[in-house]
Amino acid sequence: MKKLEELTRPNIWALKPYSSARDEYSGKEASVFLDANENPYNAPNNRYPDPLQWELKRKIAPVKHVLPEQIFLGNGSDEAIDLMYRAFCRPGRDNVVAIEPTYGMYKVCADVNDVEYRNVRLDANFQFKADGMLAAADGNTKLMFLCSPNNPTGNNLDRKEILSLLERFEGLVIVDEAYSDFSDEPSFLTELERHPNLVVLQTFSKAWGCAAIRLGMAFASPDLIGILNKIKYPYNINRLTQQEAIRMTEQHYQVKQWVRSLLEERARLMKEFGKLDCCRHVYPTDANFFLAEVDDAKKIYDYLVDRGIIVRNRTNVTLCHNCLRVTVGTRPENDALLEALEKYPS
Ligand code: PMP
Repeated sequence: MKKLEELTRPNIWALKPYSSARDEYSGKEASVFLDANENPYNAPNNRYPDPLQWELKRKIAPVKHVLPEQIFLGNGSDEAIDLMYRAFCRPGRDNVVAIEPTYGMYKVCADVNDVEYRNVRLDANFQFKADGMLAAADGNTKLMFLCSPNNPTGNNLDRKEILSLLERFEGLVIVDEAYSDFSDEPSFLTELERHPNLVVLQTFSKAWGCAAIRLGMAFASPDLIGILNKIKYPYNINRLTQQEAIRMTEQHYQVKQWVRSLLEERARLMKEFGKLDCCRHVYPTDANFFLAEVDDAKKIYDYLVDRGIIVRNRTNVTLCHNCLRVTVGTRPENDALLEALEKYPS
């Protein structure tokens, strides 16, 4: 890996970050706070939250087997994706390489930040090769985006190829594990010590059932996390979100239970979906959704919308012609989908 200083935008490396009142004083003993121009009434929402969310990070760390200093928390993992561009990619000069198809925000953030986005098409099994990614890179490639399990295809990417990329690429490799709680494969968090160029993204939005509180996690070396902390908005995670996430970490057995029942439902739903007349193929998945090729994705999508059932039409996505992406819901929700499609006049 290149030195972090070489990968970081020079203005960011040199940046002296904003120092908030809560950064300058963070001791516990004081009881009179006249430093942050807050209103003394309406506790507890009158006070700014901890800018670095230490209490929450100390709860997440043992669940994920990392140090609190290896965790960045963002307003969804989308914030971490955007900050990776802002920290490492010089607008108009640097580029990133990503698999295609994949999660759309990698490209949107590239466009917002005026960074060239190079994509490398997956093969017919929705797999990638490290060689292909490296062939698309040059001396200005700062980041590579991988998503495993991938969205919208649902499958895990080949672990050996990810490890090969981590060994051979001199920039940063981002492995987005938004859906990894639904997969049997171990997380790449266990590779953080061996690979200082690895950034793992996870989120509270999927298995943790907390999409509304907007909390995403990036895991990496403490030095790299320090760069993201330096450029984030001072109070990017509000107090209500921090409190709710702390509550969730104290009942992560509940998350395990949700995952177990969603995996059972996934197996049942995929089996039944495969029997439908309109279904041509159900792709294997490691996530809480699956991709299915149908005879006419647009028509079926519209038919379902008319019945108040919304799936995602992915027909315009590379390699996904006539594909619908179906999220696994509760048993009654899945039954509603199946019943509607059994009545679909194909
Ligand atoms: N990564 C992937 C692969 C996703 O599919 C999504 C959301 N659909 C995200 C990240 C963003 O998640 P968050 O809610 O944490 O911003």
